[in-house]
Amino acid sequence: MTTTHAPVDAGRLADDLLTLEIGFTASFHDDAAVAERIERAAAGIGRPDLVLRARLARAVVMLREGETVEGGRLTHRVYPEAVELGGDYLLARCHRALSIFFRQLGDNATALAHAVQCMSHTAADVPPAIRSRHLMCLAVLLDETGSPQEALRAFTEALALATAHHDSELALHLLNNMTYTAYERGDLPAAEELVRRMRATAESAGIQLNATCLDTLARVAMLGGRHREVAQILAPLLADDAPRHLIDVGNALEEALLTAAEAYRELGAAERAQTLLDRLFRLCAEHDLAGLQAQGREQQALLHAATGRYQEAFEEYRRFHVETRVLTSAQQDARSRALQAVYQAEEARRATDTFRELAHRDALTGLHNRRHADEELPAVLATAADGTPVSVALLDLDHFKRVNDTRSHATGDLVLRRLAGVLTAAAPPDAVIARIGGEEFVVLLPGTDAAQARQTCERIRSAVAGEDWAALTGGLPVTCSIGVTTVTGPAATPASALAAADRNLYAAKRAGRDRVCDDAVTAAA
Ligand code: GH3
Ligand code: MG
Ligand code: MG
Repeated sequence: MTTTHAPVDAGRLADDLLTLEIGFTASFHDDAAVAERIERAAAGIGRPDLVLRARLARAVVMLREGETVEGGRLTHRVYPEAVELGGDYLLARCHRALSIFFRQLGDNATALAHAVQCMSHTAADVPPAIRSRHLMCLAVLLDETGSPQEALRAFTEALALATAHHDSELALHLLNNMTYTAYERGDLPAAEELVRRMRATAESAGIQLNATCLDTLARVAMLGGRHREVAQILAPLLADDAPRHLIDVGNALEEALLTAAEAYRELGAAERAQTLLDRLFRLCAEHDLAGLQAQGREQQALLHAATGRYQEAFEEYRRFHVETRVLTSAQQDARSRALQAVYQAEEARRATDTFRELAHRDALTGLHNRRHADEELPAVLATAADGTPVSVALLDLDHFKRVNDTRSHATGDLVLRRLAGVLTAAAPPDAVIARIGGEEFVVLLPGTDAAQARQTCERIRSAVAGEDWAALTGGLPVTCSIGVTTVTGPAATPASALAAADRNLYAAKRAGRDRVCDDAVTAAA
């Protein structure tokens, strides 16, 4: 560990993240620590995109470690922020994490939907290692949801990418998945052809097949009825001195014990099969592996039956059933807990949206506020760049102090509220109306030239003057002055447009109030 104080470099952080996202490291624990370090560093240099990617990487580590609820919750917290921040790469990573989450819940349909979304956000220029992993995620789910043809296409594309970029490790991973799906379909010829490719790829790259791959090979041999070969394939994993890096992949050792026990039973080597099952049960108890233990019970029952011990076989089979039932309900519990985590995250997102909307509204009138106008104005002006006209109007109530002074401030407030309705009704539907000061309003008129703007503003002015204010103000009239400016072309800035409108508003006030002044008036003056 070095403790240099060199400035944090965003490019380096992104590279480290990519390494993490490509994944495959043996130790989840280290990955989580790395993700946290990157997240802190990214926050320190103000890069929310990298912060969110690092959080997702941490969520994926949790999911892979089997912490479905925590991983799912973190993923669902990141998702709305990623949507708001935007960026295809980040969104693709979100959908990929969501896909993993829902697959773990057993909801493959939703998982598939996210895998599809993941691909639709995976641009052509993302690193091939990432693209092919996203394709693999899609392929696995297509297969599991009953679309083997589409799955094969996605697998093949992913494999072509991995091969083209000499990523043998990924190629092996893909081939292993493809072989396993062929095995699950019971397609022996396809599975055997893929086994040949797995072996050839491993050999030419000098890679030793890990436990997951060996288990796949063993299963294919089992499907072909070659039980002696099954035992041979698994022997290196079951040896007492099996190298840790080979078997430290998920529950590879336990899976291998299960497969080997089945093979030895088929070969009539009951004692050897029993030794393997005993070892399996010890490991399951040690590591709390309920699912594998239940599968072990089934094998145990079959082994008892094969040796003529039918009473024990029956007892063991009953245990298998009970444990499977308990397991199923535990999985359902986990599933509903995880879904609740999702639901809470959704609630939080909705609350955030509501707050954001409120932050853009003026509390008194319900119109948009200055912050909203400040955000909208540059966007509306940008539409003028290609020659589309845009008009900006400033409206100020005339002698409004009088209403406050002769009636009350509360009456003034009521006038402002009523005015909001009058403005909204008189302005075109695509206008943005915002209250930017006490009794000052801005009206943004996209796609509106000077003549149309003059007309619209005149309509607004006369609507205000024509409203029946008497009951509210005790007979005091309420009128407004409007200054409007029209811009075309790329030159206008928010400041220059507002200054022009303000000059015109001042002209309207000076000319006697209750009137509209546009650029023609100030140009003539
Ligand atoms: P002018 O025609 O020159 O605009 O005259 P005016 O009286 O409207 O003058 P000015 O724009 O300087 O003053 C605005 C007044 O609006 C000041 C204040 O009393 C009143 N005002 C501002 N905000 C509010 C508000 O939220 N509620 C109420 N009731 N009055 C407000
Ligand atoms: Mg004013
Ligand atoms: Mg005023």
